[in-house]
Amino acid sequence: PEVVAAYAQSHQETPEINAFIEHFGADAMAKANALTKNQDASLLWGIPGALKDNISVKNKKLTCASAMLENYTSPYDSSIVEQLNRAQFINLGRLNMDEFAMGSTGRYSSHGATRNPLDAQRVAGGSSSGSAAAVAAHQALFTIGTDTGGSSRLPASYTGVCGFKPTYGAISRYGVNMLSPSFDVPGILAHTPEDIAMVYQSLLKEDTRDQIVRPIAYRFDNVRKQPSLKGVKIGLLDSLLDRADADVVKAYALVKQLLLDAGAELVPFDLGVESELIKVYYILMCSEAATTLSRFDGARYGNAVDASDIESLIAQTRIQRLGHEVVRRILMGNYFLMEENYAQWYMRALHIRGQLVERFTQVGKEMGATLWLWPGFHEAAMISAPERDNYASDIVAVAANLYGGPAVALPVMKGSHGLPVSVQIAGTVGNDEAVLQLADLIY
Ligand code: GLN
Repeated sequence: PEVVAAYAQSHQETPEINAFIEHFGADAMAKANALTKNQDASLLWGIPGALKDNISVKNKKLTCASAMLENYTSPYDSSIVEQLNRAQFINLGRLNMDEFAMGSTGRYSSHGATRNPLDAQRVAGGSSSGSAAAVAAHQALFTIGTDTGGSSRLPASYTGVCGFKPTYGAISRYGVNMLSPSFDVPGILAHTPEDIAMVYQSLLKEDTRDQIVRPIAYRFDNVRKQPSLKGVKIGLLDSLLDRADADVVKAYALVKQLLLDAGAELVPFDLGVESELIKVYYILMCSEAATTLSRFDGARYGNAVDASDIESLIAQTRIQRLGHEVVRRILMGNYFLMEENYAQWYMRALHIRGQLVERFTQVGKEMGATLWLWPGFHEAAMISAPERDNYASDIVAVAANLYGGPAVALPVMKGSHGLPVSVQIAGTVGNDEAVLQLADLIY
């Protein structure tokens, strides 16, 4: 109970960070008190965590930071919550995010922007803005976010914590609001790779309610072993540095040297489709989002407006209850999927995605490099800065989602404004244990 009280107090002391949409203060204390009477060896016994507000918790609201779902209460627990409850964690609340997980700054939220605990004038990154800020501000020991195109890794980097995107399909998404199902994975944020590794262990479980779930070989104990890197081949994705700023280049070089000093053999490779990554990601993600979000029309789901006929009910509900970024992406997605555009946009993007998957598989198999160093993320923008085209900052993030492999972002140094700069460790599909192990070694 003391630990939970301490975390709840940090939340009370710095509410302006706006990491939580709802804090479960009293419920969390009640659970902590109940747990003290039943001490056991569960992995997360009594550990205070919190979840992004697109992950269902029974009898709690689930808004995805959208006015569309303002009044929606979840009738069931997500698989993630079932698993965390089984491990005896304590749920501190629902975390802020960009509306429906679209965005990189945390400003597209019906609950207002999340502020960066390291500098309140800056954004916390997105879309899992609250998940990152809560860990950084010691308002939760670990958090669960989601990662469709970097949404766990980018905000983690902006706030100086670690963010992990697991292999696609390793964690069940039953009860997680779908955005773009061929990319979506839950993410884990915490202060260290070791903390992430522990939470990850408790989430791995087969689940027929999410058809993509396929078990991977993973043991938390192995992550903590620190094997030698002598002769281990590590792939270098230098080509993603082209658009990176000086701080990211420096952080990347720093870790490269560290790996060399530890005896690793560095194997440079490129993807051949670097310039297409952002386009391919946004064409596919918008197309899928247009489909998954079509159910929020006020008739099937959502906070309907009063209207005299069904047509205007649907149109007005969408216009009044969805933010402009969400509407923009739904429109783009529908454009890419129109009969006359489908082959030229959607199918072409799918084809390039296939090439990328082949390339990564080849690097793993033929070049023998199953672990990779990638550039990470640079400093967070000012809250007051105009919302510029933030799509470009996604370039180092989306490769992992397009391909499906694991990637973790680690803050490794301070940049020009004293803010953290990160690198990413990534790897072949299913190689999550080794990715976290290497991250732990570097960290
Ligand atoms: N910046 C990405 C986007 O806006 C992140 C999305 C995500 O991972 N949920 O699409």
